[in-house]
Parts: sequence; structure tokens; C-alpha cells
Amino acid sequence: MNKYFLPFALPEIGEDEVAEVVSALRSGWVTTGPKTRQFENEFSEFLGGAVEAIALNSATAGLHLGLEALGVGPGDEVITTTHTFTATAEVIRYLGADPVFVDVDPESLCIDIKAFEAAITPRTKVVIPVHFAGRAADMEGLLRIAKKYRLKVMEDAAHAFPTTCGGHLIGSLHSDVAVFSFYANKTITTGEGGMLVTRDPEIAKRVRVMRLHGISRDAFDRFTAKVPSWFYEVVAPGFKYNMTDVAAAMGIHQLKKAYRFQARREQIAKMYDESFAELPIILPPQPAAGDRHSWHLYVIRLGDSIAMERDRFVEQMFELGIGCSVHYIPLHLHPYWRDTYGLRPEMFPVSQHVYERTLSLPMYSAMRDADVERVISSVKQVFGV
Ligand SMILES: *Cc1c(COP(=O)(O)O)cnc(C)c1O
Repeated sequence: MNKYFLPFALPEIGEDEVAEVVSALRSGWVTTGPKTRQFENEFSEFLGGAVEAIALNSATAGLHLGLEALGVGPGDEVITTTHTFTATAEVIRYLGADPVFVDVDPESLCIDIKAFEAAITPRTKVVIPVHFAGRAADMEGLLRIAKKYRLKVMEDAAHAFPTTCGGHLIGSLHSDVAVFSFYANKTITTGEGGMLVTRDPEIAKRVRVMRLHGISRDAFDRFTAKVPSWFYEVVAPGFKYNMTDVAAAMGIHQLKKAYRFQARREQIAKMYDESFAELPIILPPQPAAGDRHSWHLYVIRLGDSIAMERDRFVEQMFELGIGCSVHYIPLHLHPYWRDTYGLRPEMFPVSQHVYERTLSLPMYSAMRDADVERVISSVKQVFGV
């Protein structure tokens, strides 16, 4: 790769994050402690204060703990889409339950509400919508159906910070659980990290216990509260999913910048949209009127009139020094999911077609205008215009 290679994703980390991480290191408290608590409180406030926020070492951990707290176990079915990252579905298997995969809506690339309703059986317990690329799924429709069948709703909001739906931030809707990711390429990052939010105090209590070995108090409480410092009780065989203060130190400052990052991503999306309007490209789904998109990903589709294959397109972009990616290789094409659940491409025509024709362009707040223009001129060059 030459030195002018433009990566597909990069975090934007400033001196505030660096100083806060150094302060965590110097404080002597590097695991879950005051900075994690502060990050949780500020995250909850960001979402309007009506939810509890629980910081974890990944979104995958959050999805696992969320399903565990919702009581998912062997014999249960959990509905989600094939057009997602494997983490959304693997956590269902962790608990011995079975995922039921449905197709996505061609407009939003999020869960197809009709397919969701058609997939409900007496064994269905939870539905996991994914806010694909950072554009909200049809949560109004989904919550209505879930209520009708008494299903629990856990949002995979890994892409959706900050995203709104019906004017409300994802994470503040009336689902049971929402889980955000702070992985390195997400809209805000802690390196590795995640946040589970819920309105339900019982779920919050269970998640807090299960994120740290099933112990009834976390380390911060144990060493600062009035109860004897050595005392704790194990009430369940829990996990080791807590966030460290080193990671939370980054998160505190990333959170403060979240709207600035989003505004920059919106600008980039607009530059792309305007430049590609005349090309045989299907542009990414726009947010519903009045709503905001996080623009975690900018996903284009090659129009049907274009003979060029997607793989060739990505290859040519690489040759021009532009990193691209594909979101996603649908789960029905991966050997484990395909073979375990007998999945075939014809069962998911929208996801399959989108997969074959789609690619994601570089999209991150640290991109300069010149970088965006380079991506645009490279796309045009590949199209020969
Ligand atoms: C990134 C991602 C996850 C997992 O996030 P981690 O924090 O890496 O565990 C889950 N679901 C989706 C859709 C993602 O993109």
C-alpha cells in the first residue's frame, strides 16, 4: 500500500482523551471505578436521563447480558436480520436459544416488519432490530407488533449513536434494552467498549450483577462504601464484561464530541450524495423526515444498469488508494449459520441482492474535505466519468 492510502475508517482522538487516560493511569484506579461511573451518568443524561446506562467491555457483551436479563434460554427463538454482524446472532447461541433470521426492507436495509411478524412462533421471545449503518429501523411498527405478541425488544444500536427515530434518540425509545458499541471504527470509541441502556430497573440490576462474576456489588462500591470492604456475595455464575476506567476516560470525551462528529459525518454524506446524484449508484437510505442518521457507514449500491461487479469496483478503489468495505456478508452465507440453520440465499432475496451490489466508502469525522474529494473523484474515475 502506498503512503497516500486513505483508510476506510479511523477514530478521531484528541488531547482531551489523551489527558483523561493519563489521569486514569496516574490515579492508580485503572479498572471499573469513578470514570466509568461518570461515563455511565453522562451517557444516560445524553439520552434524556430516563434510562440507566451500564458500561461494558464490548457491545457483544451488552447483547449477551441483555438477552440473559430478558430470560432467554434453550428452546427460545430470537428474531433478527441476516444483514448484520455475527455478534448480533452469536449471543443468542451463547444462551442455547435459536436465532430466526429474516430479510431486510429494501428501502431502509433494516428489519422487514412484515417478515418479522410472519416469523413469530409460540417460541419467540425477543426481537433484535439492527439500525443498519446508523439509520433507524421502523421502531414504531416493530414496537407495535412486539407489543401485540408480547415479545421483548432489544435494539442492536451498535451503529446508532446518535440516531433519532420519531424525533427521539435511539436508546430512549420504549424498547426493553438498547446496546451501543464503542469499537474502534464506531461513531464514538473507547478502543473496545459498549453501553447497555434500559428503562427497566430489574434488567439494569441483573446486568450490573452479571457483568462482574454475578457479584452483588461492583469493585468501586466494594472499596469505597461503608460495608466491610472485603464483603461480597456471588448470586449467579456471571461474566467478566466490565469496562475499565482507562477506556471510560476516552469515552467521556468522545461523548462530549458526539454531535460534532455527527455533524461532520452528515456533511460528508451530503458531499457524497450530491456528487453521486448523476451516477448509476443507489444512494444510501436517508433518515425518515425530521430524523437524524448517525452516518456510521455510507453504503452505496451499484445500479442494476452497471455491468461491473462489486468486487472489481472495490479492487479498483484500492488500486486508487481508497479503502472500502462491504457491510455485510449476510449471516446466511457464513458456514456456521448456513449449515446449522439450513439457510439459503433465496430465503433472503433483498439481503442477498444488496450484498452482491453494495460497498461502503470511507466515512469518519477525521476525513478532510480533500479526502472526501479524493474518494469522489476515485468513484467517478472507476465509473469512467
Ligand atoms: C460492531 C457491532 C457489534 C459488536 O460490537 P463490539 O463492541 O465490537 O462487540 C454488534 N453489532 C453490530 C451491528 C456491529 O456493527
